[in-house]
Amino acid sequence: MAGRNFLFVPGPTNVPDRVTRAMMVAMEDHRSPIFPELTRACLSALKPVFKTTSAVPILFPSSGTGCWEAAMTNCLNAGDKVLASRFGQFSHLWIDMCTRLGFEVEVLETPWGEGAPLDRYLASLSADKQHKIKAVLVCQNETATGVTSDVAAVRQAMNSVKHPALLFADSVSALASIDFRMDEWGVDVCVSGSQKGLMLPAGMGVTCVSQKALEAAKSATSKRCYFDYGDMVTSNATGYFPYTPSLPMLYGLRESLAMIAEEGLENVFHRHTYLASGVRAAVFEGWKLKLCATAPKWHSDTVSAIMVPEGINGAEVIARAFKRYNLALGAGLSKVAGKLFRIGHMGDLNELMLLGAIAGAEMAMLDVGVKIEPGSGVAAAQKYWRNHAAGAKSGSAA
Ligand code: PLP
Repeated sequence: MAGRNFLFVPGPTNVPDRVTRAMMVAMEDHRSPIFPELTRACLSALKPVFKTTSAVPILFPSSGTGCWEAAMTNCLNAGDKVLASRFGQFSHLWIDMCTRLGFEVEVLETPWGEGAPLDRYLASLSADKQHKIKAVLVCQNETATGVTSDVAAVRQAMNSVKHPALLFADSVSALASIDFRMDEWGVDVCVSGSQKGLMLPAGMGVTCVSQKALEAAKSATSKRCYFDYGDMVTSNATGYFPYTPSLPMLYGLRESLAMIAEEGLENVFHRHTYLASGVRAAVFEGWKLKLCATAPKWHSDTVSAIMVPEGINGAEVIARAFKRYNLALGAGLSKVAGKLFRIGHMGDLNELMLLGAIAGAEMAMLDVGVKIEPGSGVAAAQKYWRNHAAGAKSGSAA
């Protein structure tokens, strides 16, 4: 098909040319005397992205899923109880993994479209007088439904009842796009990956571990080997890895972290809010459709999950967009399959790139019979952006 492909799934995201070029390197000896410079550059530049001075960033040759597994198996004893909420496919998959690894999970079932149920976290934690819950899990940004949750408030709930459990946060589709604060929020393990806000190809698990979690890992009895924090931290301290690292990914990460530092992390967050607000204007004011996120407080600045009207199959919108317009939109997963499509607005992008996605979604919707006004989404997004200075703090368009 002539013309470029428009990649607007909520990860993998577009890799900036600058990062691609940085990754085109000849292989090197990963045990050379100069290799530690690269390791240290990556790990130290990650700390401000996690907003930590005391926790330790770790890079695994995996994706985000590997970091979920690492969090569970490094910090917990076999059979430990954990508390988690389920409100989308990714919070579900983490819970599923916990069960398959043999942990006992107290699940807070929550409607898809809502976020972490803070009052119910609090109720479970305060009822747990014997402190059987060893870890509390929360998905900061549920990519399947476009819902952002308040991780800080989960920590407050834990503190208010003086619960000693570890706090694990999934920030796979939030880190480096939506504010995340490891130290301030008292997060013990943050799980993320390379292919979203960090603007890299998939293939690197990016995680960060508090001193408390590292201490727990020293005596935790769950079986692990490849994903052992201790092996990694010991090797990284000398500038090396316990096994062969992906050299291009490390060069790419160094470059993407430099780009984030140049733009300024807070400006990166503001850009995401500003661009997301334009998409929300297209959805609400242009198309008169709904988001899966049921209230403005849940609106995600990295992905919008757009409900299609009754009688329309969201999968047909996605197929039409892909086949006819070379536009990749995100699918509805599991419970919401066919009910929605998703526009990812994460990583390296600007207004004009998003207008392409909005226009393509609009044309695909028209083609499959959604009754919207041609150009209405594009016009609403433009109006929003013209009324709000680029990069300035802006709230939800709803
Ligand atoms: N958690 C969230 C919120 C995600 O969006 C994803 C993937 O999209 C994952 C976890 C799993 O990460 P990965 O696909 O990198 O293993």
